[in-house]
Amino acid sequence: MTGVVLNDVRKSYGDLQVIHGIDLSIDPGDFIVFVGPSGCGKSTLLRMIAGLERISDGTVSISGRVVNDVPAPDRGISMVFQSYALYPHMTVGDNMAFGLRIRRTPAERIRETVGQAAEALQLGQYIDRLPKALSGGQRQRVAIGRAIVREPEVFLFDEPLSNLDAALRNQTRMEIARLHREIGATMIYVTHDQIEALTLATKIAVLKDGELQQFDTPDRVYNQPANTFVAGFMGAPP
Ligand code: ADP
Ligand code: MG
Repeated sequence: MTGVVLNDVRKSYGDLQVIHGIDLSIDPGDFIVFVGPSGCGKSTLLRMIAGLERISDGTVSISGRVVNDVPAPDRGISMVFQSYALYPHMTVGDNMAFGLRIRRTPAERIRETVGQAAEALQLGQYIDRLPKALSGGQRQRVAIGRAIVREPEVFLFDEPLSNLDAALRNQTRMEIARLHREIGATMIYVTHDQIEALTLATKIAVLKDGELQQFDTPDRVYNQPANTFVAGFMGAPP
């Protein structure tokens, strides 16, 4: 297991600074939720941790190692996006196995790992189907399965439920919570949904305009908001 530390992390696009110096220390096994209104910088921050976006200033460390110059595939992380981004011409099983194949994992081991993940995500009977035969919720579970089989130390999720309808959103949210309980990996999860944040997180990071407003347990963020923005956004009385 591993922790993630952000040290005065900044991001600018040209002259526009969108992340203004974020310090954050995430313990191994924590489930951290970045929450805040649209455009506040949640995805940018997550993408810098993932290695999908250059860090303008400051450092990101994973397991005590500064990863600013480490390419995404070598950071020991897996990311699940809002849209499923499955390969349409590959079966469910092949989609889930893809990351293992490019790492030259032995075929027998791939079959075993993918089979286990498919069972855990209730996808066992769909393993030879193409993504187009699956519902939206099932496709998102394939995307989660693809992340699981790589056995990352850190999982990153960017609004993974926002394309699902309400019932599937609840079900998939519970599956993600169960996954965290079972494998105990560090998870960092982005959402603009306060309820998701309050129900999933061990700690919530509330962001506004690229600045951290509060980093604390759901109970304290809700009951002892650091300022009126947090109080208003999290829905607690002022
Ligand atoms: P969130 O995920 O919280 O909705 P983002 O991280 O996507 O917010 O965006 C934060 C800010 O950065 C926004 O003002 C957005 O317009 C800006 N931004 C994001 N990506 C780019 C980019 N590639 N070029 C310029 N500005 C960007
Ligand atoms: Mg976003």
